[in-house]
Amino acid sequence: MAKVAVIGSGFSGLSAACFAAKQGHEVTVFEKNSVIGGRSRFYEEQGFMFDMGPSWYWMPDVFEKFFKQFDKVPSDYYKLVQLDPGFQLFFSEANALQVPAKLEDIYQVFESIEKGSATKLKKFLAEGELKYKVGMEQLVYKPALSWMEFANYNVISGALKSHIFKSVQTYVRSFFKDERLIALMEFPVLFLGAMPKQIPALYSLMNYAALTKGTWYPMLGMYQVVSGIEKMATELGVSFKTNCNVEKINITAGKASSITTSLGDFKTDVVIASADYNHVEQKLIDIEYRNYSEKYWEEKTFAPSCLIYYVGVNKKINKLIHHNLFFDTDFDKHAKEIYETPQWPENPLFYVCCPSKTDATVAPAGMENLFILVPIAPGLKDTPEMREHYFAAIINRIEQKCNDAFLANIIYKKTYCVNDFASDYNAYKGNAYGLANTLKQTAVLKPSVKNKKVKNLFYAGQLTVPGPGVPPALISGEIAATQMSNYLKSIKNAN
Ligand SMILES: Cc1cc2nc3c(=O)[nH]c(=O)nc-3n(C[C@H](O)[C@H](O)[C@H](O)COP(=O)(O)OP(=O)(O)OC[C@H]3O[C@@H](n4cnc5c(N)ncnc54)[C@H](O)[C@@H]3O)c2cc1C
Repeated sequence: MAKVAVIGSGFSGLSAACFAAKQGHEVTVFEKNSVIGGRSRFYEEQGFMFDMGPSWYWMPDVFEKFFKQFDKVPSDYYKLVQLDPGFQLFFSEANALQVPAKLEDIYQVFESIEKGSATKLKKFLAEGELKYKVGMEQLVYKPALSWMEFANYNVISGALKSHIFKSVQTYVRSFFKDERLIALMEFPVLFLGAMPKQIPALYSLMNYAALTKGTWYPMLGMYQVVSGIEKMATELGVSFKTNCNVEKINITAGKASSITTSLGDFKTDVVIASADYNHVEQKLIDIEYRNYSEKYWEEKTFAPSCLIYYVGVNKKINKLIHHNLFFDTDFDKHAKEIYETPQWPENPLFYVCCPSKTDATVAPAGMENLFILVPIAPGLKDTPEMREHYFAAIINRIEQKCNDAFLANIIYKKTYCVNDFASDYNAYKGNAYGLANTLKQTAVLKPSVKNKKVKNLFYAGQLTVPGPGVPPALISGEIAATQMSNYLKSIKNAN
């Protein structure tokens, strides 16, 4: 049995800890914050329960697969409901475009907007199914240490090859003409941190997942997933140390031998670092042991940061549903302000989550819980004035679209932005979603899951493989734990 130190308690750290404990090791998770969950933390204020980060529960199969490896199912820990409609998009027209849960109904929505598009959607989803099967069921579980791992898959050599070099934008536009359908089909890849023209078409497997596997919600909020995994980890024997900032990974004779934390030193046989990769490399290990230089990080394309408002409203709001995307301004202009000429956006698109539409427990009776997210470029100068600047305009846009005034009914508001991401999570440039999944930052081209100089130091999380998002973070923890297991077996065999 080895002593394993997991740095960070986000989804990737929790996942790595569970797999390491299942292998029979003595596992401790070290978390700097007082609450576990990383970017998926939660807080309660004036009777409103706010999920601080993720709100979209997509790819339920990945969660099932995760729990199955511990002979569990998600319902052992939380209750999922499928949202119907899954989400809606507001454009310049008065009425929102709602995306129903049933595929048959989605085809009808498409056909009502663009004649012939239902048939095209069927073809799009048939190709998506193949991508999903190959991509999500096989490729994303690879450690991506060498291209040879991918040599046997038809993604590289066969039917899907063209989907690597074609962009999501070109691909989507070869099927659909209506700008609303294009926005609907392109938006899921924004989660991957770059513009649709920069993301390989392979990732349109996300649309397949969004439209065919549904949009789900764990009752009481996304934090239930964190609590569930924490409970399972504890059942597996994992210990947690919160309010425990890791200050240094001490390396002796080429191996991580202990970690220095705000609660003292802890000996270890292996370290799985699931805190932001850049922070671990630049702040926790000495320069000679780093995989990458500061220049390497500067040249990387980071996924956006965001400006978030957590808002409590003392009345119900018309027309909002659980997930609402406000695409009523110029998408290309906002995207350029994030990715091409990073600056505070003039008239941004935004997303509003209103979980109180589904779950009465997240707001006091008759009230509404709002999570408003504006994607912005990472590294922007974050000031109280800037945070305030957008609020009234955004609320006004929601009021207009919903035909319902509620500014005067706001009884609670908190903002969260670049500086908070940097200070709470040690996030490089205050990024929210890690590294973008562009072609040049996919698979082997992502920061490596292994430290190349320190054999018992592994990395997990949204800056390494497979990338940003809760399902990838769970997979990342599994990959890191498997690499650790291979390492421990190799030293056992050598002795
Ligand atoms: C606002 C927002 C909305 C999102 N929405 C969605 C969504 O709807 N659906 C989806 O699937 N994904 C979403 N994501 C992405 C998803 O939440 C992340 O990809 C995922 O949670 C990242 O997990 P992680 O384990 O890699 O990192 P983190 O969650 O950041 O975990 C890393 C942990 O390491 C800790 N740490 C850092 N430094 C130290 C140190 N020195 N010592 C000890 N601990 C340390 C941090 O405090 C943190 O707890 C969203 C992200 C954000 C920010």
